[in-house]
Amino acid sequence: MENLYDVVIIGAGPAGLSAGLYAARAKMKTLILEKERVGGQIVTTNEVVNYPGSIKDATGPSLVARMLEQSEEFGVERKKDTVVDVDFTQKIKVIKGEQGEYNAKAVIIASGAKPKLIGCPGEKELTGKGVSYCATCDADFFTDLEVFVVGGGDSAVEEALYLTKFARKVTIVHRRDELRAAKSIQEKAFKNSKIEFMWDTGIEEIKGDGIVESVVFKNKKTGEVTEYQANEEDGTFGIFPFVGYQPLSEVYKGKINMNDVGYVITDVEMKTNVEGVFAAGDIREKSLRQVVTATADGAIAAVNAEKYIESHFE
Ligand code: NAP
Repeated sequence: MENLYDVVIIGAGPAGLSAGLYAARAKMKTLILEKERVGGQIVTTNEVVNYPGSIKDATGPSLVARMLEQSEEFGVERKKDTVVDVDFTQKIKVIKGEQGEYNAKAVIIASGAKPKLIGCPGEKELTGKGVSYCATCDADFFTDLEVFVVGGGDSAVEEALYLTKFARKVTIVHRRDELRAAKSIQEKAFKNSKIEFMWDTGIEEIKGDGIVESVVFKNKKTGEVTEYQANEEDGTFGIFPFVGYQPLSEVYKGKINMNDVGYVITDVEMKTNVEGVFAAGDIREKSLRQVVTATADGAIAAVNAEKYIESHFE
């Protein structure tokens, strides 16, 4: 059979790279498919402070580069392809990509999650034109400008802190009057003189002709609607929504069990309801989505994929 692998891993974030390392070390013929760029969401984060062994100045991209190098040393194959369909009904699983078809004795789904949109008019149109979901990638464009960060979770507050290194002023716009972020992260933000807060505030619309020029806020308590215009000299400002994530599981709908918002359900061995199909990392239904839990998931999935192959194939 052409293109037959022991394990095909879908996604090259920390979960997929860790699964790749473990699978290849176990001498399984392993392929990692990645649709865009290696690294997943962690490459959009500058600081990685809570991954054990990650010391000062460790960045998301540098951590991923080391993970990649390590997995490749053990012979993991990598291909850039977008998975458009899967057939998990037979013993040999079929993964259909835009570029080709891959067959696998076991599959590990590690395709992660993507940022959720605020969902207001103008957001999509002005993405890349003042609206950004990646502070690490785009902070530099906002050097000495004003920036609004939307959300009150760990991502919003951490990225706001990072943005203060570039922007003149960072305003965290949150729909409630208290943050969801961890207390330690909150404290740093409250102490930072460049950070201001707009509480109980939603974004109604983002406006601009080819570049962000104004944003319409609505106070959730009073109902008051205000429009903020870019400072005349600046001509623009930044909007960074960090309002959570959604799993990239559309392609597996109806093929494996998932919860009502699309997170894949597995047991503690990372097994899905389909024999030979495993899931790891942020795409799983779980309580803590971090690099450390993603890499752990990847390792567990690969070890159990190996056990599955040993017991089901000659
Ligand atoms: P999150 O914890 O789900 O927080 C999303 C934030 O956005 C919340 O404050 C939420 O408001 C707000 N929000 C949601 N939908 C909105 C909308 N349509 N309009 C405006 N605001 C909206 O997401 P996250 O901060 O991205 O974190 C995701 C996971 O990654 C969490 O488990 C987090 O702990 C983890 N994480 C950890 C770290 C770290 O440990 N250093 C860093 C980043 C992320 P409400 O509060 O009102 O719901």
